[in-house]
Parts: sequence; structure tokens; C-alpha cells
Amino acid sequence: MKIVRYADPGPVSKYRDYKPYLQPLFRSRCAYCISHEEVMGGYDAMEVDHFRPWSRPEFKHLEKEWGNLYYTCRLCNGSKSNHWPTTEQDARGLRFVDPCEDDPDDHVRISRHPNTGDFCWLRALTPAGRYTIDKIRLNRKQLIDIRRALAREESEVREAFNRNRQRIELLTKDLDARGATPEVEDVLRSLREEQERVSRQLEDLRSHRPFQSDETAA
Ligand SMILES: [Zn+2]
Repeated sequence: MKIVRYADPGPVSKYRDYKPYLQPLFRSRCAYCISHEEVMGGYDAMEVDHFRPWSRPEFKHLEKEWGNLYYTCRLCNGSKSNHWPTTEQDARGLRFVDPCEDDPDDHVRISRHPNTGDFCWLRALTPAGRYTIDKIRLNRKQLIDIRRALAREESEVREAFNRNRQRIELLTKDLDARGATPEVEDVLRSLREEQERVSRQLEDLRSHRPFQSDETAA
């Protein structure tokens, strides 16, 4: 999902003063690994990144520029550091995926881990995706573990959903064949309520997933 920036709430005296405005704009998630702040140590553990690194002379003037400030986790900010593509790299599409200009899902996707087979490995769909994964270390252990835990939880809930659906189908057939009894209707009603709950849980888990996954694309 692309971030649509609203008007500059500044001016501010220090660039970090923008942090409370950046948090809701980036939906409390890191701009690069898209992890929610609650799994990264909360608001206080999050940082303000300069998309164009202001430590580079050519971007020095962007230190307090609202449009250049991004909400990030500490490790993504640290890995990104002052990396910036050369003109030659940029011409080959090797650049940072910009969540305010691009939809990250067009550039990277969660796929099977080459060793464990879990859906937690980020693969590049474009040169920009490759550059971003490499420079920001988007396949570091911390992120693999977060994505793996989310994928496993989602898979368990999906299995519960499928089991429930089968039971509902069987009971409905039974009811059609033998006629309704209050007992069967009761069981069916509670199963359907349970199914609604599981379905909401599944949607909630999918909304927490940082990127699109090959698992659901398949
Ligand atoms: Zn991050």
C-alpha cells in the first residue's frame, strides 16, 4: 500500500519533532520492513529516517523537509544509513523502493524460505526490490522470525476455518436429508457463529502481514 502524505504540519525546530505526525501517516509501521511498531518495541523504539540521507552533502538541505522524513524501525534505519544509488545504478533501476511513491507490493513478495519452506523469505520482483532488500537487510533474522510467526499463526487459523466449513457442509446435508431437529440446528448455529469469529481473525491476521505473499497468490 502506498503512503499518501498529507500537508506539512510544520515548521518544526528539530526534524524529530515530526515523529508524532509520521506515526499515524505510516500507520504505526516501519516504512521499509512494514513491521508494526508493537513488534518492534513500540513508539519509543521507532525512529525518523531521512529518505534522501541528509548526511550526504547533496541532501543536506532536506534535514527538516517533511516530504523526506519516514517513520522506521531502528534496524532498518541503521542498515539504510547513508546508502544512496549512484546515477549509474539508478539508471539500471537499482534504487530504494519509496513507499510514498511506489506500492512496495509491486517490488517485493513473501515467498518460501529456501531452507525451511516457511513463507517468510522476501524475494525481489524488480531491481529496486533487490537493491532495497540488500541495503536495508530485509531478510535479516529478526524479520524472518516475525514473518514466520505470522505465517504459522495464519496457517493454523486457516486450517480451523477449513475444518469448520467441512463440518457445516456435512451438517447442512444431514439436515436436508433427515429434516431439521432442534439439536442439529443448535449445533449448526454455534458452528456458524464460530466460523464468523474465525473468519474475522483470519482477516485481521492478513492485515498484519507486511507484504503480499506467494502463498495467497497461489
Ligand atoms: Zn523496519
